[in-house]
Amino acid sequence: MDKLIVVKYGEIALKGKNRSYFEKKLFANIKHALMGLEGYKVIREHGRMYVLCDGAIEDEVIERTRKVFGIVGLCSAEKVENDLELIKANALAQAQRIVDETGMSRFKVEVKRSNKNFDMKSPEIARIVGGNINQNVDGVQVDVHTPEFVVTVEIRDVTYIYSKEVKGFGGLPYGCAGKGMLLLSGGIDSPVAGWMLAKRGMEIEAVHFHSYPFTSDRAQEKIYDLARQLAVYTGYVRVHSINLLEIQKAINEFCPSKEMTILSRRFMMALAERVALETNCQALITGENIGQVASQTIEGLTVTNSRVDLPVLRPLIAFDKLDIIKIAEMIGTFETSILPFEDCCTVFLPDKVVTRPVLADIEKSESNLDVESLIDAAIAGKEIFTFIREK
Ligand code: ATP
Ligand code: MG
Repeated sequence: MDKLIVVKYGEIALKGKNRSYFEKKLFANIKHALMGLEGYKVIREHGRMYVLCDGAIEDEVIERTRKVFGIVGLCSAEKVENDLELIKANALAQAQRIVDETGMSRFKVEVKRSNKNFDMKSPEIARIVGGNINQNVDGVQVDVHTPEFVVTVEIRDVTYIYSKEVKGFGGLPYGCAGKGMLLLSGGIDSPVAGWMLAKRGMEIEAVHFHSYPFTSDRAQEKIYDLARQLAVYTGYVRVHSINLLEIQKAINEFCPSKEMTILSRRFMMALAERVALETNCQALITGENIGQVASQTIEGLTVTNSRVDLPVLRPLIAFDKLDIIKIAEMIGTFETSILPFEDCCTVFLPDKVVTRPVLADIEKSESNLDVESLIDAAIAGKEIFTFIREK
């Protein structure tokens, strides 16, 4: 194992007394992400993390590790003997390469010397290595406060030198911030909403509503693909699949048609809360957004919200659609989300919908239904699917 990848984590380093808890989670999550590969070792020492690996799997290690939440960057290090001339030459070559490839010019050299047998102190080594770069690479200048790139020299039993950084997503280690039940539709927004909370460390479980046989197997398959894509980041995702058809039929028969959407929404929330409580989730998560569609007026959100007691997290509430799409593209869910399969909401879609529902009216319509039995029956028919990160 001749490659060393330095794992950089941002926010976790600020966690004070809890730092070690977050680090342990991150360490376990990196190991989990690399499972199935051969020829690597994840190392945690002195509040830092590294992956040692064979050159043959380095790209794969970086690609998988970069998707582990909590990591802000990964640096692949080159290895030389603990010899000042070799260190100078390697650091110079790396700096030259960066300048050639990117045109950046302001740099600094950082030295970490954990091997105290090396007979020079860090600031002196930094001065010599930096001076050598300054003299030999055209157009560069030292800037210790706002460098465009940093050449880091770590002197251990051998010396590791690195300068290029592959960016991670940041956030917090998955599984360190409670558990949420994501209402996962086939649209663009809800997978992004789930991803964002997962990035903040919240464990995600999902619930999906369909109207089979009015909605097709392919529409279901689309949801499972989205769950698989989320599992790339989280390791696994469990999806509870619930048929809403009987509920929709009942609403259709006994309630004003213009209330179809808002009433189904309230059932979805109630059902999601039921499943959430059974699975120890502490919150619901939706992709709701102010003003995108008629049901997402503040009045609509208020009426759906009042159906449940658990907090409802809506990370996209104030995002512009184009910004949500950018994230969907970045995390790999966009292409699946735009596949044109019918959604349960399109079944029984009325011509006219209430956009400013009043809670008292909606509750009155609901009193025409045997809400609890409908919910019990829907829960009784629930199916569970688990998706595990594919290697
Ligand atoms: P999305 O792109 O996530 O479908 P949207 O802009 O289409 O969102 P709506 O259809 O109003 O908005 O849905 C709002 C939210 O309600 C969704 O983000 C999702 O969290 C939840 N939701 C809607 N339909 C379903 C469904 N069939 N199963 C599970 N959750 C759903
Ligand atoms: Mg939708």
